[in-house]
Amino acid sequence: MGAGPFGLSATAYLRNKGVAVGIFGEPMSFWRDHMPAGMFLRSNWAASHIADPRAKYTLDHFKAETGARFNQPIPLQNFVDYGNWFQRQVVPDLHREQVTGLAKDGNLFRIALADGQTVRAGRVIVATGIAPFPWMPREFTLLPPTHATHSSDHRDLSRFRGQEVLVVGGGQSALDAARILHGFEAKVEVVAKQKVLRWVGRNAWLHHLGPISKCLYSNYDVGPAGISRLVGFPNLFRRLPRDLQDRIGRRAVRPAGTGWQRPYLAKVPITLNRQVASARTVGEKVHLRLSDSSERVVDHVIVATGYRVDAARYRFFSPAIQQTLQTRSGYPVLTRGLESSVAGLHFVGKPAAWSFGPLLNFISGANFASLELLRAF
Ligand SMILES: Cc1cc2nc3c(=O)[nH]c(=O)nc-3n(C[C@H](O)[C@H](O)[C@H](O)COP(=O)(O)OP(=O)(O)OC[C@H]3O[C@@H](n4cnc5c(N)ncnc54)[C@H](O)[C@@H]3O)c2cc1C
Repeated sequence: MGAGPFGLSATAYLRNKGVAVGIFGEPMSFWRDHMPAGMFLRSNWAASHIADPRAKYTLDHFKAETGARFNQPIPLQNFVDYGNWFQRQVVPDLHREQVTGLAKDGNLFRIALADGQTVRAGRVIVATGIAPFPWMPREFTLLPPTHATHSSDHRDLSRFRGQEVLVVGGGQSALDAARILHGFEAKVEVVAKQKVLRWVGRNAWLHHLGPISKCLYSNYDVGPAGISRLVGFPNLFRRLPRDLQDRIGRRAVRPAGTGWQRPYLAKVPITLNRQVASARTVGEKVHLRLSDSSERVVDHVIVATGYRVDAARYRFFSPAIQQTLQTRSGYPVLTRGLESSVAGLHFVGKPAAWSFGPLLNFISGANFASLELLRAF
């Protein structure tokens, strides 16, 4: 289920070994519909190929075969085009229908599709990504969507041209939104609870030390020196004490912007170490009070506070699957082969990150996930 980087990659690996796989979903829909035009990928070139078993469908092959011209940082639209190209090459028989229901039927799964058809399968891989899990602090959930939206609600920020917009958050999504809004001449301010803004790429020199850099960083581009290496071995990572996994996991994916954006944000006010204490609408405007008692009045608030996996929010699972699915902090608990407590039900992508670490949050984790699935299949 799912035709993003993880679903496409898993299908490529499994079919290569002769497994009969049907794949359902709208290719690259999360990237196309839930990220703003004008965004660039945070991950570097080496960490942004969608993995296939023969490395025949990399970004470089895409460029060579289609004549597309782009480099790092990778523009969003080029990445969407690459994903669609990968799909056409590797799984031209993709079914675009959404899965609407999933239930156990003896040893098989019964899968209901949006067009009313039903199919059966021995195993199911949930590769449906994070679209169902946008998270906002409570004070924003009480505002109407005309006045406050999650960053994932936008693909075209030009509708805010000339307006006053407050962006909440200090990570890549918030800073991307602020940069793009500033380009549209919106009057934008960023408010973030962290004390300092972090920038990826500040220690670029550490990447140019030859063999020493190779010891410090893996090609996956996840986390700082040292941690980058460790998270590259998810089966080792998951054997660490839980508390240590959680701490390293938070460190590896903590909010940060990509360094190249910095000059573009020079004229955007960024207020750190503050939270929005309360927010209400007054007519067309949003009135906000911050934790330092200062006030803001804006046309719109974009809340870029990320995603929280909550398996209870998968709408397609039958009640019996929901009851059998073991979770921790909302994440399915997975064992080798990325298999859940429901025999034959596997998860890839961010929902697998509680069990296998932060690598699974990123495109570069698809290689590991696909090989791990092969083990079970
Ligand atoms: C703003 C932003 C920027 C990011 N930048 C990067 C980056 O630079 N590098 C990086 O590595 N990661 C980045 N990420 C993380 C990124 O989301 C993941 O790396 C990647 O999308 C995970 O792929 P996926 O296949 O798990 O999920 P997705 O790409 O979300 O794909 C999910 C697929 O499931 C399908 N689907 C959903 N529901 C159903 C259903 N019921 N039935 C059938 N199909 C369904 C969808 O149509 C889609 O095809 C970013 C995330 C955000 C929010």
